[in-house]
Amino acid sequence: MGRVEPIFIQNYTLTDLELWVEAIGERRFRARQVFRNIYGRHINDWGECSDLSKMFRLQLEHGTHLHALTLQEVREAADATRKYLFELSDGLRIESVLIPDPPRQTLCLSSQVGCALGCRFCLTGTMGLKRNLTAAEIVDQVCRVQEDLGAGRRITNLVFMGMGEPLANLDAVVRAIHILTDPLGLAFSHRRITLSTAGLVPQMSRLGSATPVNLAVSLHAAEDALRSELMPVNRTYPLEQLIRACREYPTPPRKRITFEYILLDGINDHPRQARELVKLLHSVRSKVNLIPFNPHEGSVFGRPSERAILAFQEVLHKAQMTVIIRESRGADIGAACGQLVAGSACA
Ligand code: SAH
Ligand code: SF4
Repeated sequence: MGRVEPIFIQNYTLTDLELWVEAIGERRFRARQVFRNIYGRHINDWGECSDLSKMFRLQLEHGTHLHALTLQEVREAADATRKYLFELSDGLRIESVLIPDPPRQTLCLSSQVGCALGCRFCLTGTMGLKRNLTAAEIVDQVCRVQEDLGAGRRITNLVFMGMGEPLANLDAVVRAIHILTDPLGLAFSHRRITLSTAGLVPQMSRLGSATPVNLAVSLHAAEDALRSELMPVNRTYPLEQLIRACREYPTPPRKRITFEYILLDGINDHPRQARELVKLLHSVRSKVNLIPFNPHEGSVFGRPSERAILAFQEVLHKAQMTVIIRESRGADIGAACGQLVAGSACA
Protein backbone atom coordinates (compact mmCIF):
# COMPACT_ATOMS: atom_id res chain seq x y z
CA MET A 1 0.00 0.00 0.00
CA GLY A 2 1.28 3.48 -0.86
CA ARG A 3 2.11 5.96 1.86
CA VAL A 4 -0.81 8.23 2.80
CA GLU A 5 0.06 11.91 2.42
CA PRO A 6 -0.20 13.86 5.68
CA ILE A 7 -3.26 16.12 5.85
CA PHE A 8 -3.10 19.86 6.50
CA ILE A 9 -5.10 19.80 9.70
CA GLN A 10 -6.00 23.53 9.56
CA ASN A 11 -8.21 22.70 6.55
CA TYR A 12 -10.54 20.83 8.90
CA THR A 13 -13.52 22.30 10.67
CA LEU A 14 -14.33 20.73 14.02
CA THR A 15 -16.98 18.55 12.35
CA ASP A 16 -14.47 17.33 9.74
CA LEU A 17 -11.99 16.61 12.49
CA GLU A 18 -14.51 14.52 14.40
CA LEU A 19 -14.96 12.31 11.34
CA TRP A 20 -11.22 12.11 10.79
CA VAL A 21 -10.37 11.06 14.37
CA GLU A 22 -13.08 8.40 14.21
CA ALA A 23 -11.70 7.14 10.90
CA ILE A 24 -8.28 6.60 12.47
CA GLY A 25 -9.84 4.72 15.39
CA GLU A 26 -10.02 7.42 18.08
CA ARG A 27 -13.08 8.57 20.02
CA ARG A 28 -15.01 11.48 18.57
CA PHE A 29 -14.49 13.84 21.54
CA ARG A 30 -10.74 13.75 20.94
CA ALA A 31 -11.33 16.11 18.02
CA ARG A 32 -12.23 18.87 20.48
CA GLN A 33 -9.00 18.33 22.35
CA VAL A 34 -7.03 18.47 19.13
CA PHE A 35 -8.83 21.66 18.07
CA ARG A 36 -8.17 23.29 21.43
CA ASN A 37 -4.51 22.38 21.31
CA ILE A 38 -4.07 23.91 17.87
CA TYR A 39 -6.09 27.10 18.25
CA GLY A 40 -6.34 27.69 21.99
CA ARG A 41 -2.91 26.64 23.16
CA HIS A 42 -1.03 27.34 19.93
CA ILE A 43 1.10 24.21 20.21
CA ASN A 44 3.98 23.78 17.79
CA ASP A 45 4.57 20.09 18.32
CA TRP A 46 2.13 17.28 19.01
CA GLY A 47 4.50 16.19 21.80
CA GLU A 48 3.20 19.18 23.80
CA CYS A 49 -0.31 17.66 24.00
CA SER A 50 -0.12 15.86 27.31
CA ASP A 51 -3.91 15.35 27.25
CA LEU A 52 -3.59 12.95 24.29
CA SER A 53 -2.29 9.39 24.40
CA LYS A 54 1.20 8.71 23.12
CA MET A 55 -0.20 6.52 20.37
CA PHE A 56 -2.58 9.26 19.16
CA ARG A 57 0.19 11.85 19.29
CA LEU A 58 2.29 9.64 17.02
CA GLN A 59 -0.61 9.27 14.58
CA LEU A 60 -0.98 13.05 14.53
CA GLU A 61 2.74 13.54 14.06
CA HIS A 62 2.90 11.26 11.04
CA GLY A 63 -0.55 11.91 9.61
CA THR A 64 -0.79 15.71 9.70
CA HIS A 65 0.90 19.00 8.96
CA LEU A 66 0.27 21.21 11.95
CA HIS A 67 1.06 24.40 9.99
CA ALA A 68 0.60 25.36 6.35
CA LEU A 69 2.97 28.34 6.30
CA THR A 70 6.60 29.06 7.04
CA LEU A 71 7.35 32.56 8.26
CA GLN A 72 10.17 33.99 6.17
CA GLU A 73 10.40 37.61 7.17
CA VAL A 74 8.74 40.25 9.33
CA ARG A 75 9.19 43.95 8.58
CA GLU A 76 7.97 46.79 10.75
CA ALA A 77 7.05 50.21 9.35
CA ALA A 78 7.62 53.56 11.04
CA ASP A 79 3.91 53.56 12.03
CA ALA A 80 4.26 50.08 13.67
CA THR A 81 2.45 48.28 10.85
CA ARG A 82 4.00 44.84 10.49
CA LYS A 83 4.28 42.95 7.21
CA TYR A 84 4.68 39.17 7.32
CA LEU A 85 6.11 37.25 4.39
CA PHE A 86 5.15 33.57 4.31
CA GLU A 87 6.24 30.68 2.17
CA LEU A 88 3.64 28.11 1.11
CA SER A 89 4.40 24.40 0.83
CA ASP A 90 4.96 24.71 -2.95
CA GLY A 91 7.42 27.57 -2.57
CA LEU A 92 5.04 30.41 -3.56
CA ARG A 93 4.85 33.36 -1.21
CA ILE A 94 2.14 35.55 0.27
CA GLU A 95 1.97 38.48 2.65
CA SER A 96 -0.22 39.47 5.60
CA VAL A 97 -0.24 42.87 7.28
CA LEU A 98 -0.89 43.64 10.94
CA ILE A 99 -2.23 47.13 11.55
CA PRO A 100 -2.07 48.16 15.21
CA ASP A 101 -4.63 50.78 16.16
CA PRO A 102 -5.06 50.29 19.92
CA PRO A 103 -7.16 48.78 21.29
CA ARG A 104 -7.57 47.12 17.89
CA GLN A 105 -5.04 44.88 16.23
CA THR A 106 -6.30 44.29 12.71
CA LEU A 107 -4.83 41.56 10.54
CA CYS A 108 -5.15 41.96 6.78
CA LEU A 109 -5.34 38.51 5.19
CA SER A 110 -4.49 37.27 1.73
CA SER A 111 -6.89 34.88 -0.02
CA GLN A 112 -5.02 34.14 -3.26
CA VAL A 113 -1.49 34.26 -4.63
CA GLY A 114 -1.90 37.19 -7.00
CA CYS A 115 -5.28 38.08 -8.49
CA ALA A 116 -6.93 37.51 -11.85
CA LEU A 117 -9.08 40.64 -11.88
CA GLY A 118 -6.38 43.05 -13.03
CA CYS A 119 -7.59 46.35 -11.59
CA ARG A 120 -5.44 49.02 -13.20
CA PHE A 121 -4.27 50.69 -9.98
CA CYS A 122 -3.36 47.55 -8.04
CA LEU A 123 0.10 46.02 -7.90
CA THR A 124 -1.20 42.59 -6.83
CA GLY A 125 -3.30 42.63 -10.03
CA THR A 126 -0.16 42.91 -12.17
CA MET A 127 0.98 39.47 -10.96
CA GLY A 128 -2.01 37.67 -12.46
CA LEU A 129 -3.38 34.74 -10.51
CA LYS A 130 -0.90 32.07 -9.42
CA ARG A 131 -3.37 30.05 -7.37
CA ASN A 132 -6.04 30.07 -4.69
CA LEU A 133 -5.04 29.66 -1.07
CA THR A 134 -6.37 26.71 0.87
CA ALA A 135 -8.38 27.25 4.05
CA ALA A 136 -5.33 26.07 6.03
CA GLU A 137 -3.16 28.73 4.38
CA ILE A 138 -5.70 31.40 5.31
CA VAL A 139 -6.16 30.17 8.89
CA ASP A 140 -2.42 29.79 9.45
CA GLN A 141 -1.84 33.48 8.64
CA VAL A 142 -3.82 34.20 11.81
CA CYS A 143 -2.07 31.49 13.86
CA ARG A 144 1.46 32.50 12.80
CA VAL A 145 0.91 36.21 13.41
CA GLN A 146 -0.74 35.55 16.78
CA GLU A 147 2.25 33.39 17.68
CA ASP A 148 4.59 36.23 16.74
CA LEU A 149 2.63 38.70 18.90
CA GLY A 150 2.71 36.45 21.95
CA ALA A 151 0.25 36.25 24.80
CA GLY A 152 0.21 39.99 25.60
CA ARG A 153 -1.30 41.15 22.31
CA ARG A 154 -4.36 39.60 20.66
CA ILE A 155 -5.43 40.03 17.07
CA THR A 156 -8.89 41.59 17.43
CA ASN A 157 -10.11 42.09 13.84
CA LEU A 158 -9.66 40.29 10.53
CA VAL A 159 -10.01 41.88 7.10
CA PHE A 160 -9.80 40.06 3.78
CA MET A 161 -8.04 42.94 2.05
CA GLY A 162 -4.61 41.50 1.31
CA MET A 163 -3.60 39.74 -1.88
CA GLY A 164 -6.37 38.34 -4.02
CA GLU A 165 -10.11 38.51 -4.54
CA PRO A 166 -11.66 36.54 -1.66
CA LEU A 167 -14.94 35.88 -3.49
CA ALA A 168 -13.01 34.22 -6.33
CA ASN A 169 -11.92 31.67 -3.72
CA LEU A 170 -15.20 31.51 -1.87
CA ASP A 171 -15.20 27.88 -0.68
CA ALA A 172 -11.82 28.08 1.00
CA VAL A 173 -12.57 31.52 2.44
CA VAL A 174 -15.90 30.39 3.94
CA ARG A 175 -14.27 27.26 5.34
CA ALA A 176 -11.52 29.39 6.89
CA ILE A 177 -14.13 31.73 8.41
CA HIS A 178 -15.95 28.75 9.94
CA ILE A 179 -12.70 27.58 11.54
CA LEU A 180 -11.69 31.07 12.72
CA THR A 181 -15.08 31.71 14.33
CA ASP A 182 -15.46 28.34 16.05
CA PRO A 183 -15.97 29.05 19.77
CA LEU A 184 -13.65 26.18 20.66
CA GLY A 185 -10.90 27.60 18.50
CA LEU A 186 -9.84 31.18 17.84
CA ALA A 187 -13.43 32.28 18.47
CA PHE A 188 -13.49 35.43 16.34
CA SER A 189 -16.89 37.06 16.22
CA HIS A 190 -18.33 37.49 12.70
CA ARG A 191 -18.74 41.14 13.57
CA ARG A 192 -14.97 41.48 13.67
CA ILE A 193 -14.40 40.01 10.23
CA THR A 194 -14.72 42.08 7.06
CA LEU A 195 -14.42 40.79 3.53
CA SER A 196 -13.62 43.17 0.69
CA THR A 197 -14.67 42.37 -2.86
CA ALA A 198 -14.21 44.04 -6.22
CA GLY A 199 -17.81 43.01 -6.94
CA LEU A 200 -18.26 39.36 -7.94
CA VAL A 201 -22.05 39.62 -7.84
CA PRO A 202 -23.14 35.93 -7.79
CA GLN A 203 -20.69 35.12 -5.01
CA MET A 204 -21.92 38.02 -2.87
CA SER A 205 -25.24 36.34 -2.19
CA ARG A 206 -23.53 33.00 -1.62
CA LEU A 207 -21.30 34.64 0.97
CA GLY A 208 -24.27 36.28 2.65
CA SER A 209 -26.07 32.99 3.11
CA ALA A 210 -22.94 31.11 4.21
CA THR A 211 -21.56 33.42 6.88
CA PRO A 212 -22.68 36.81 8.24
CA VAL A 213 -19.40 38.73 7.96
CA ASN A 214 -19.20 42.46 7.21
CA LEU A 215 -19.01 43.32 3.56
CA ALA A 216 -16.79 45.95 1.96
CA VAL A 217 -17.12 46.72 -1.73
CA SER A 218 -14.33 48.29 -3.80
CA LEU A 219 -16.21 50.82 -5.86
CA HIS A 220 -13.69 53.45 -7.06
CA ALA A 221 -16.07 54.92 -9.64
CA ALA A 222 -19.80 55.66 -9.74
CA GLU A 223 -20.16 55.49 -13.53
CA ASP A 224 -19.92 52.31 -15.58
CA ALA A 225 -17.61 53.61 -18.30
CA LEU A 226 -14.91 54.75 -15.88
CA ARG A 227 -15.34 51.79 -13.54
CA SER A 228 -14.99 49.33 -16.42
CA GLU A 229 -11.78 51.04 -17.42
CA LEU A 230 -10.32 50.91 -13.90
CA MET A 231 -11.77 47.53 -12.95
CA PRO A 232 -12.39 45.10 -15.82
CA VAL A 233 -14.72 43.07 -13.56
CA ASN A 234 -17.28 45.85 -14.05
CA ARG A 235 -17.79 44.71 -17.66
CA THR A 236 -19.17 41.44 -16.34
CA TYR A 237 -21.02 42.85 -13.32
CA PRO A 238 -21.91 46.50 -13.97
CA LEU A 239 -22.98 48.94 -11.29
CA GLU A 240 -26.70 48.28 -11.45
CA GLN A 241 -26.17 44.57 -10.70
CA LEU A 242 -23.58 45.37 -8.06
CA ILE A 243 -25.80 47.83 -6.20
CA ARG A 244 -28.75 45.42 -6.35
CA ALA A 245 -26.55 42.69 -4.83
CA CYS A 246 -25.52 45.12 -2.08
CA ARG A 247 -29.16 45.93 -1.29
CA GLU A 248 -29.93 42.21 -1.10
CA TYR A 249 -26.91 41.36 1.06
CA PRO A 250 -28.11 40.38 4.56
CA THR A 251 -26.49 43.30 6.37
CA PRO A 252 -27.55 43.08 10.03
CA PRO A 253 -29.72 45.89 11.49
CA ARG A 254 -27.67 48.95 12.40
CA LYS A 255 -24.81 47.73 10.19
CA ARG A 256 -23.80 49.13 6.82
CA ILE A 257 -21.83 48.06 3.80
CA THR A 258 -18.49 49.82 3.50
CA PHE A 259 -17.74 51.23 0.05
CA GLU A 260 -14.07 51.78 -0.67
CA TYR A 261 -13.25 54.57 -3.08
CA ILE A 262 -9.62 55.12 -4.01
CA LEU A 263 -9.08 58.75 -4.97
CA LEU A 264 -7.03 58.95 -8.17
CA ASP A 265 -5.78 62.37 -9.17
CA GLY A 266 -7.72 63.79 -12.11
CA ILE A 267 -9.50 60.48 -12.75
CA ASN A 268 -12.31 60.02 -10.23
CA ASP A 269 -11.84 62.89 -7.74
CA HIS A 270 -13.99 65.65 -9.26
CA PRO A 271 -16.87 67.02 -7.13
CA ARG A 272 -19.23 66.04 -9.97
CA GLN A 273 -18.09 62.44 -9.46
CA ALA A 274 -18.73 62.78 -5.73
CA ARG A 275 -22.31 63.78 -6.58
CA GLU A 276 -22.63 60.70 -8.82
CA LEU A 277 -21.47 58.62 -5.87
CA VAL A 278 -24.14 60.14 -3.62
CA LYS A 279 -26.78 59.30 -6.21
CA LEU A 280 -25.54 55.76 -6.71
CA LEU A 281 -25.55 54.92 -3.01
CA HIS A 282 -28.79 56.60 -1.98
CA SER A 283 -30.65 53.26 -1.77
CA VAL A 284 -27.99 51.33 0.18
CA ARG A 285 -27.18 51.42 3.89
CA SER A 286 -23.61 52.52 3.34
CA LYS A 287 -20.52 54.17 4.67
CA VAL A 288 -17.74 55.36 2.44
CA ASN A 289 -14.00 55.01 2.96
CA LEU A 290 -12.05 57.40 0.78
CA ILE A 291 -8.54 56.04 0.23
CA PRO A 292 -6.06 58.47 -1.31
CA PHE A 293 -4.14 56.44 -3.88
CA ASN A 294 -0.83 54.93 -2.81
CA PRO A 295 1.53 55.51 -5.68
CA HIS A 296 3.83 52.60 -6.47
CA GLU A 297 6.65 52.19 -8.95
CA GLY A 298 5.40 52.14 -12.49
CA SER A 299 1.87 53.29 -11.65
CA VAL A 300 0.33 55.83 -13.99
CA PHE A 301 -1.97 57.23 -11.28
CA GLY A 302 -1.27 59.88 -8.68
CA ARG A 303 -2.61 60.95 -5.30
CA PRO A 304 -4.90 64.00 -5.41
CA SER A 305 -4.04 67.19 -3.53
CA GLU A 306 -5.33 67.55 0.04
CA ARG A 307 -7.72 70.21 -1.22
CA ALA A 308 -9.24 67.88 -3.78
CA ILE A 309 -9.56 65.08 -1.21
CA LEU A 310 -11.34 67.35 1.29
CA ALA A 311 -13.58 68.86 -1.39
CA PHE A 312 -14.68 65.38 -2.45
CA GLN A 313 -15.40 64.42 1.15
CA GLU A 314 -17.38 67.64 1.68
CA VAL A 315 -19.85 66.75 -1.09
CA LEU A 316 -20.59 63.45 0.65
CA HIS A 317 -20.84 65.13 4.07
CA LYS A 318 -23.35 67.63 2.74
CA ALA A 319 -25.48 64.73 1.50
CA GLN A 320 -25.47 63.32 5.08
CA MET A 321 -23.33 60.34 4.15
CA THR A 322 -21.00 58.66 6.61
CA VAL A 323 -17.56 59.11 5.16
CA ILE A 324 -13.99 58.85 6.38
CA ILE A 325 -10.65 59.42 4.73
CA ARG A 326 -8.57 56.33 5.33
CA GLU A 327 -4.85 56.62 4.86
CA SER A 328 -3.13 53.36 3.97
CA ARG A 329 -0.62 52.35 6.57
CA GLY A 330 2.84 50.86 6.22
CA ALA A 331 3.64 52.42 2.82
CA ASP A 332 7.37 52.65 3.67
CA ILE A 333 7.65 48.85 3.78
CA GLY A 334 5.36 48.12 0.83
CA ALA A 335 2.57 47.01 3.18
CA ALA A 336 -0.09 49.49 2.08
CA CYS A 337 -3.28 48.69 0.18
CA GLY A 338 -2.56 47.31 -3.25
CA GLN A 339 1.20 47.07 -2.68
CA LEU A 340 1.38 43.38 -1.80
CA VAL A 341 3.36 41.48 -4.40
CA ALA A 342 5.21 38.79 -2.47
CA GLY A 343 7.44 36.65 -4.62
CA SER A 344 7.59 38.98 -7.60
CA ALA A 345 10.63 41.02 -8.50
CA CYS A 346 9.11 44.05 -6.78
CA ALA A 347 8.62 42.39 -3.39
N1 SAH B 1 -9.70 42.06 -4.10
C1 SAH B 1 -10.38 42.70 -3.05
C2 SAH B 1 -9.60 42.77 -1.74
C3 SAH B 1 -8.15 43.16 -1.82
S1 SAH B 1 -7.72 44.79 -2.27
C4 SAH B 1 -10.83 44.07 -3.47
O1 SAH B 1 -10.38 44.56 -4.49
O2 SAH B 1 -11.69 44.62 -2.76
C5 SAH B 1 -8.11 45.76 -0.83
C6 SAH B 1 -8.35 47.25 -1.16
O3 SAH B 1 -7.14 47.95 -1.53
C7 SAH B 1 -9.31 47.43 -2.33
O4 SAH B 1 -10.28 48.40 -2.04
C8 SAH B 1 -8.38 47.90 -3.42
O5 SAH B 1 -9.09 48.56 -4.42
C9 SAH B 1 -7.42 48.78 -2.64
N2 SAH B 1 -6.21 49.15 -3.39
C10 SAH B 1 -5.59 48.46 -4.37
N3 SAH B 1 -4.52 49.15 -4.84
C11 SAH B 1 -4.46 50.30 -4.12
C12 SAH B 1 -3.57 51.43 -4.11
N4 SAH B 1 -2.51 51.48 -4.90
N5 SAH B 1 -3.82 52.45 -3.24
C13 SAH B 1 -4.88 52.38 -2.39
N6 SAH B 1 -5.73 51.34 -2.33
C14 SAH B 1 -5.53 50.31 -3.20
FE1 SF4 C 1 -7.57 41.97 -7.39
FE2 SF4 C 1 -8.58 43.56 -5.48
FE3 SF4 C 1 -6.21 44.14 -6.68
FE4 SF4 C 1 -8.51 44.35 -8.06
S1 SF4 C 1 -7.89 45.58 -6.24
S2 SF4 C 1 -6.59 43.40 -8.79
S3 SF4 C 1 -9.67 42.66 -7.22
S4 SF4 C 1 -6.65 42.41 -5.37
